[in-house]
Amino acid sequence: MHIDVSSLLFVMTLNMLVMAAALPYFMGRVNQTAHRAQAGILMQTAGWVLLLLSSQFPPQSLMDRLLSTLSMACIAGGMALNAAAFDLWCGRAATARAPAVIAALLTVGYGVGFSSYAFRVGWSNGLLTLQMATVVYALCRAPQVTVGRWRWLLVISLLAQMVVTAWRGVLGAFYTADFPNFFAPHLVNLVFALVANVTVVLSLAAILLAHRDEAARELQRLATVDGLTGALNRRAWLERATADLAIGARYQNPVGVLMLDLDYFKLINDKRGHDAGDRALRVFAQALQAVSRTGDMVGRYGGEEFCVLLNHADAAAVLAYDLRLRRWLAANAMPQLGFELSYSAGFAMRAAGADTIEAMLSRADVALYRAKALGRGCTLDAQDVQPELAGLA
Ligand code: GH3
Ligand code: MG
Ligand code: MG
Repeated sequence: MHIDVSSLLFVMTLNMLVMAAALPYFMGRVNQTAHRAQAGILMQTAGWVLLLLSSQFPPQSLMDRLLSTLSMACIAGGMALNAAAFDLWCGRAATARAPAVIAALLTVGYGVGFSSYAFRVGWSNGLLTLQMATVVYALCRAPQVTVGRWRWLLVISLLAQMVVTAWRGVLGAFYTADFPNFFAPHLVNLVFALVANVTVVLSLAAILLAHRDEAARELQRLATVDGLTGALNRRAWLERATADLAIGARYQNPVGVLMLDLDYFKLINDKRGHDAGDRALRVFAQALQAVSRTGDMVGRYGGEEFCVLLNHADAAAVLAYDLRLRRWLAANAMPQLGFELSYSAGFAMRAAGADTIEAMLSRADVALYRAKALGRGCTLDAQDVQPELAGLA
């Protein structure tokens, strides 16, 4: 069987071309991260097309120099874009600074030193290897979100490419006579072309898996978060609050549940419109988050009713939270909304023995109801409202 390097590289480029063109269509509407990955694939594909084109011109001609240099810019730039997407998929900011700097260095050095074959092959392959090493390093760092096995698929692909790229670089730079050009039937070229064909497929699979991972994470987030305010929805809040309460009972920590209801909210909707009502809900949720500390958990219980679970918080700490919230609203509601925002609240503390979130919520709700009856704009302790419950505390 005869396997020639040119055909292998041609087929790989053809596959990449079809894939780069088809991916945006088949992936449908995607976020910025997937867009970056798609753009990275497109750029690398363009790089390979340019490299193949450059081989059609006489060596050292202006067109050869121009197309080859552009090709390097696309291959290395595309890798930097993909590296940024991998960063985002691992839950980090999309810096990919090292791959981007290397891409720029590589292109400039390659263009300037093009006339020396040994230099340009050594330089480009050396820096491409280094660039892949930085991407491998970033992929191996502990991710900030739950990340599937796709990153190991990428690491394996990149390591394999690094070995053959470095091999080409060393041969081109130091054993130039044995290594005339990229398409020559040299063992390293053959291995390079085979590895490139295989790793293109593996990398594509990894990118699609990373995208699927992210979509699953987003679905999970949407299932737990209230779309309007970004607070936890009732189901997620109850689930987490139940777990927190169990821990509180296990370690005998005080736990408070605060239930809050905006005052005359219907009036806001009626007087200023539903949009103003929605904005008020968002600002209120923002206020709750702003005054929350580690261990406080905010949920939208429904409509204009919110609940907060405060871990390691006694009644005084719950009242301090309430005070911070009223101050925050006094300072920020008017500037942000154009009208004041007031609420009534009731809270209940974890009772000794077998207390439940549902029971705490219902005690807090009674206190809230009483706060409304007393004229609104205040917060009551369930214990003061229902003396018969005092025995539980
Ligand atoms: P009170 O002081 O007794 O709490 O009076 P209120 O007007 O706040 O209470 P009521 O329960 O009568 O009204 C709640 C209103 O909240 C009714 C409902 O239309 C509105 N609401 C519920 N969910 C939303 C929402 O997502 N957006 C908007 N804009 N309004 C909502
Ligand atoms: Mg209400
Ligand atoms: Mg209300």
